[in-house]
Amino acid sequence: MLSSSKALNAAHRVVLALSLLITALPSTAFGTSIFSAFAASTSHKPTKLLRHPLSVPSLLTRGGQQSARNMSNVDNDNVNKDTTTTVTRKTYPLAPVATDSPFAVPVKKVTIAGGTHGNEYTGVWCIKAIEKQRGNDKDECEATNGASNVGNNPINIFRKYPSLEIDTLLANPMAYMENKRFIDTDLNREFSMEKLKRVNVNEETMELCDIQHEFCSEDDDNLASLPHEAIRAREIETILGPKFIASSSPNGDAAYPDPRMDIVIDLHTTTANMGISLIIPEGDALMSAAAAYVLNKCKNEYGYDSVQCCMHALPKRQDRMNLSSCGRHGFTIEVGPTPQGVIRHDVVEQTEAALHSLLEFLHLRNLELEQDNANAKSVLDRLREIYPGGIVPCFRSAPAVRPGELSGKISWPNDPENPNFPAVMVHKSIQDRDFEPLRIGDPLFVSLDGHIIPYDGSHGEEVHLIFVNEGGYYYASSGTGIGVAVRSEFDWQTGYFVVESDDEGVSEEVIIEEKDSYE
Ligand SMILES: [Zn+2]
Repeated sequence: MLSSSKALNAAHRVVLALSLLITALPSTAFGTSIFSAFAASTSHKPTKLLRHPLSVPSLLTRGGQQSARNMSNVDNDNVNKDTTTTVTRKTYPLAPVATDSPFAVPVKKVTIAGGTHGNEYTGVWCIKAIEKQRGNDKDECEATNGASNVGNNPINIFRKYPSLEIDTLLANPMAYMENKRFIDTDLNREFSMEKLKRVNVNEETMELCDIQHEFCSEDDDNLASLPHEAIRAREIETILGPKFIASSSPNGDAAYPDPRMDIVIDLHTTTANMGISLIIPEGDALMSAAAAYVLNKCKNEYGYDSVQCCMHALPKRQDRMNLSSCGRHGFTIEVGPTPQGVIRHDVVEQTEAALHSLLEFLHLRNLELEQDNANAKSVLDRLREIYPGGIVPCFRSAPAVRPGELSGKISWPNDPENPNFPAVMVHKSIQDRDFEPLRIGDPLFVSLDGHIIPYDGSHGEEVHLIFVNEGGYYYASSGTGIGVAVRSEFDWQTGYFVVESDDEGVSEEVIIEEKDSYE
């Protein structure tokens, strides 16, 4: 009884989800060439139209045009369990030359996302604060007009960084409204080709619908069977991307080279003692330089002690499953500790400090490209002074030693009755000790009967723990366990991890293919 009415409800919510997808998009957003990235020859006819049942806050604001969006629904498929570790080798790329430098392209279109995990309220607070500033950018008195206080200076984001076209996105409105990490499954693991292509939307569907509040495929059983976040991910990908070129290719999936967003900045929090953690993908030199800039500014100008860079070994955008992979560049700011569903002033300030530093870097670089003043000291020159040789300290995922185990995470066993309840708890000696070393034999977990379970070397003799007792990792669909990393370095000029050269001067690097995701 309960389950059937729940399923019906779920189906309705799924349908409504897509209606809001459409609502959010200007009709001009569906140019054929772009939209055809996932074009499907569906022939939905307008049937009975549904009204949106919930009042959901305005979420995505694009160029002053506000759109509400929201939705929902059903079963869970676990995305993290298929993690395998494959080791390949590749040559180390040369430093970029001026003609094709990754620093030569301006970054203008910026989306700042909050609430990708609906109970991480800090990011939502930050994007609401930004929207408060929109329209007040001509006012002389910033302090009284919703400006963010960064480094004791009130800053209006639109006034301070005019070269950037800034949008905000409340990524999972329904989960946010319910103060949950997600409705059905972790949204930040939903942006693979395989998952996105489950949801068909096309121009024909768009034209048939009243795009304000209604959607015309309520009888689409396929959509009704999908998790809420599957549909929301497709919606977001349509707005920010597209992410992929084609649905299938003999050489594998390929990322769309010119998505709508130049950069997607995703704001997260963690219950772990991570301070300000900047998460960037390997191989993106511009994001590496940006992270180096933010790292220095937050530490040395704003005085925050705990600021770290974490780099994913996933150089191809199409291989990443997170929301920020929808843009040409992706950057995640993760701040903690803070409880889920709680807004702390200090954590908001740390998030804003990192965010503003990042926007400042992008804006300064844009100005330099416009002015083409070869004699001026560029923001890149400053980085060269701060980081001799271009070397920036970071953490990277620790590869699993044993085949079949998860790289970058020590999984914990779950309670047989509840997959979201750990069968062991994190040992007190590592609580709040993020980024500190853990060696073989050190206490790791405590079992229900009180036995201490030591670290068994699953990811090497010594690792550094991250996301220690992260509340989000209690969910099976987020991947349960503790993050494990190793110290590393990257070269901000190339965006790649730094490795030793061999005798012939050829540098090679062991690449771990990560299937798991932080954030
Ligand atoms: Zn999160």
